[in-house]
Amino acid sequence: MTETQLLALQKRLDEINEQLLDLISERGRIGVQIGKIKRSQGVSVHDPSWEEEALKRLVQRNDGPFDEATIRRLFQEMFGATLQLLEPERGRPLLVSRKRQRMNTVIRLKNTIVGGTDPVLIAGPCSVESLTQVREVAALLNEAGVHVIRGGAFKPRTSPYDFQGLGFDGLKLLKQAADEYGLLTISEIVDPSHLERAVDYVDIVQIGARNMQNFELLKAAGELRKPVLLKRGLAATMDEFLHAAEYIVSRGNSQVMLIERGIRTYEKWTRNTLDISAVPLLKRESHLPVLVDVSHSTGRKDIIIPCAKAALAAGADGIMVEVHPNPPAALSDADQQLDPGEFREFVRQMTVSGLLHPRRPTL
Ligand code: PEP
Ligand code: MN
Repeated sequence: MTETQLLALQKRLDEINEQLLDLISERGRIGVQIGKIKRSQGVSVHDPSWEEEALKRLVQRNDGPFDEATIRRLFQEMFGATLQLLEPERGRPLLVSRKRQRMNTVIRLKNTIVGGTDPVLIAGPCSVESLTQVREVAALLNEAGVHVIRGGAFKPRTSPYDFQGLGFDGLKLLKQAADEYGLLTISEIVDPSHLERAVDYVDIVQIGARNMQNFELLKAAGELRKPVLLKRGLAATMDEFLHAAEYIVSRGNSQVMLIERGIRTYEKWTRNTLDISAVPLLKRESHLPVLVDVSHSTGRKDIIIPCAKAALAAGADGIMVEVHPNPPAALSDADQQLDPGEFREFVRQMTVSGLLHPRRPTL
């Protein structure tokens, strides 16, 4: 077959696809009209016996190349899709659910892909404290092949007397250090009115655990066209977590990543209890990428390597870890942040395990 013939056939397929789309859409619109009439008559919109009759007729008419099972499957899918158009949004599976989207959501940011085949590592200090501090961390990340730097500028602290973060000045420092090393930035935003300005400095907007059910913040994040990292609330169930993500996605922002960061239990040996089961559960129920924060979930450095391995082995799409040039002097979370040597060892051991594949430095 010549190249010209092949191109002509491919063009013909494109045309048929477009015709099919027009027909499916027309079918959907007619289905909605029928549904409305039936509802006004007080009759159920779903008529399985009509569907069965229609399928029988189609199978009889079919003379290949598709077999009977394939024809049934294709039409059943279309019948189901039309019925979904008739269901009110309430009661339908959530947009974040795998029932609505079978394929994984993949988030692309420059040279970083979240939710693809390779897990990502996000690292950086708990809080942005100074340019020197974030530059040091940025250099360390670049050397380790890590492409996303975190650093809090708006810190939701338990005590109002604790360090509250540098605000927009902190975001600017983070961006300056990140730009120097070609890294992406992620930082928590707590106030919906800050989002518009913040997106000049952050590539990924973090919504913290304490704000997982700050519905006005979630709605505002839904208006963005930037990736959002949503942390699981301190005592949030899976259902509450997914509904929080739904607030963002239902406003049109489909670029949402979920992150398990430990939940509150009676256990005191860890800061929170890392719920590893959240990873396969969320991956099963939702198409969104799922990450694990091994610093806030454990609150201790001596177990973060096995916890990070467990997270990736359970199917997590990435890990978040806190690292600081001089943890004892850190203005927040001093106990759980890795120092540069510990961070290098963390990356080394994760790489040796075969679960993480950091990429070469960009600079
Ligand atoms: C953070 O990641 O900076 C943070 C405050 O974490 P969390 O919201 O999970 O407590
Ligand atoms: Mn922290």
